[in-house]
Amino acid sequence: MELTLDLHSHSGYSGGVGQIDLSDMIHAMELKGLDIFGTGDAFHPAWGKFLKTNLKEIHEGLFSYQNLSDSKLFMLQSEIIVSFPMGKNKRKSFHLLILLPDFHSIDQIVKLFEKWEVKNTIGRPFLVCDSLVQLAERLAALKEINPMIEIIPAHVMTPQGVFGSVSPVDSLEEAFGSFSKEIKIIETGLSADPEILEMIPELKDKTFISNSDCHSSDLRRIGREYTKVRVKDKSYSSIIHALRNDEVVYTGEFSVSEGRFFLTGHRKGKKGHEESGIYFTPDKTPEDKKCPDCGKPLTIGVLERAYELAVRQGGKPKLPKTTRRQFITMVPLIELIAVSMKKTHTSKPVQALYHKIVSNSPETEFWFMDEKTMGGFLTELSFEESMIEDILSVKKGNFSYFPFGYDGEYGKLVIGEKIDLNLFSSEGRI
Ligand SMILES: [Zn+2]
Ligand SMILES: [Zn+2]
Repeated sequence: MELTLDLHSHSGYSGGVGQIDLSDMIHAMELKGLDIFGTGDAFHPAWGKFLKTNLKEIHEGLFSYQNLSDSKLFMLQSEIIVSFPMGKNKRKSFHLLILLPDFHSIDQIVKLFEKWEVKNTIGRPFLVCDSLVQLAERLAALKEINPMIEIIPAHVMTPQGVFGSVSPVDSLEEAFGSFSKEIKIIETGLSADPEILEMIPELKDKTFISNSDCHSSDLRRIGREYTKVRVKDKSYSSIIHALRNDEVVYTGEFSVSEGRFFLTGHRKGKKGHEESGIYFTPDKTPEDKKCPDCGKPLTIGVLERAYELAVRQGGKPKLPKTTRRQFITMVPLIELIAVSMKKTHTSKPVQALYHKIVSNSPETEFWFMDEKTMGGFLTELSFEESMIEDILSVKKGNFSYFPFGYDGEYGKLVIGEKIDLNLFSSEGRI
């Protein structure tokens, strides 16, 4: 059987928007066509307690919430931040996604965190280590609690990811030491996709998964990335087994150029950038990687980091023509309708049209209709011709984000135009 997974989210304890309501999540999972959703922040004392009280295990390691649904289920999950000293006066710090088989594992890990004096008052516990060796030992100690615990480098290419531009490393081993051999799966994150990551030689045999990393049931966020996986049965161990053995059917990816850290630059509003932001494609970045406007080091984008890593590991800094891993690039449907109608995604007409589609076909399945079926389906729902055209444009891949995402800014959707990233070269102030 196949399951659609979104295994990385956050509760209200990780900052951002307020408390997450799991019944809203179930409703959103139905609209999106997700089967299994990560609870987020499972180590947080208050959120963990809430989960323990309200979730009921109905398949091994998979939980229903207040018996609201027996098909939309939750997996226990958290993100943690780890850090260790690297070089002189610098630390490497990055995020890890942890998948958990049961509450017992959570209790045991929380005990270790207490022993290690890990700060656990926000959603992401912060595991500060004295050395790379200690980090590797501690991650191994977590896995010793239960071998089915899975530790996955999260959003690997963002500044907070293992390959991010802050205190950069050239390989997984530099960041994980002896634990690197345990890394079987990596999370692509919003700013990267299989096309970008397949440039990096050491990721050749890893499984790529995609998750939304959402902080709310906002329909632009939940399920904006997901993983479709082939499993033996509906259980935690079958899912982990499938992920470890790359039984991924495909991933649904956010458009990389929309991702907030795609290109190198400094965003508008930063000190010294009151008037305009500045961005560069990798070929245009100044050699000293300093900003010509404010003189500070530029925030290096995902594309540039991926090119650098490819070269350091003996690969080519060029996006592959075809990828080994299957994936589709989507635009959150509600955002697409909003852009097409020139209204906000929360406005009533946008919401109404969105629900018209997803009450007939969940969003993840909608994108898998062929063009003819999709056109007929939308005509039958009395969609206007111009909207049908816009949706079909996206289905055909004729869209891009311009300006691209850079230095924390999301890219802006442009329908009807595709940009070949291999040929694209640009710098500018916006
Ligand atoms: Zn993160
Ligand atoms: Zn600057």
